[in-house]
Amino acid sequence: MSNVDFNEVDKFAAIASRWWDKNSEFKPLHDINPLRLNYIKERCGGSLKDKKILDVGCGGGILVESLALEGAIVTGIDMAEASLEVAKLHLLESGLKVDYQKILVEDFVKQHPEQFDIVTCLEMLEHVPEPSSIIKACSKLVKPSGQAFFSTINRNTKSYLFAIIGAEYILKLLPQGTHDWDKFIQPSEMDEWARHSGLTLKGMIGMTYNPFTKIYKFENDVSVNYLSHYKK
Ligand code: SAH
Repeated sequence: MSNVDFNEVDKFAAIASRWWDKNSEFKPLHDINPLRLNYIKERCGGSLKDKKILDVGCGGGILVESLALEGAIVTGIDMAEASLEVAKLHLLESGLKVDYQKILVEDFVKQHPEQFDIVTCLEMLEHVPEPSSIIKACSKLVKPSGQAFFSTINRNTKSYLFAIIGAEYILKLLPQGTHDWDKFIQPSEMDEWARHSGLTLKGMIGMTYNPFTKIYKFENDVSVNYLSHYKK
């Protein structure tokens, strides 16, 4: 059995043509991208130039292209063919160079152990059957002393109200059914999996959305969306 839920992957594949439409279902990812890019850059010493980076669950390449623009050498992997096709087509527009592949991270690691300076896996762990297996593979892909970044959604009453009721039903930022509350991950759970995979927590930041100003911000509040930085 492979660690992929095709119901989940198909949800993204079905709307893949809109990955680069900044007013589509993917608007929230476009909106948070500059924030997370800056966090990754700062945490990696201020420059991503020539860094070898793997993005796991890359979708249409929103984060990947921003990393490539910083001068990083980026590989993006995902299990949705349609999203990868869109990601590749978008390279014709951006003129960037990225290696996109449809492969499970658990298989990819067998061919590329300890080859990446940085591995990112953002907004994906809550869509897979076994997130701990993804974290383990990501850790193996990172070079000794390299960095890993994971983001997901915390699991508590507030995240049910904000990330599901608020984002999907009231504000309609995301299509209904995008997220399943049971699959949200508490920071302590992520940290346990990461520690067992040889990673050490270096930083964690919360991302909040203000529906009145429509602005996303980093805050110390990790009760809903959060992004964690680990070092091997
Ligand atoms: N990381 C991107 C996209 C997040 S959406 C970003 O933050 O901008 C979640 C993505 O995870 C989708 O593209 C979906 O196809 C992918 N995905 C889900 N399960 C996966 C798996 N097991 N392996 C690889 N990608 C997966």
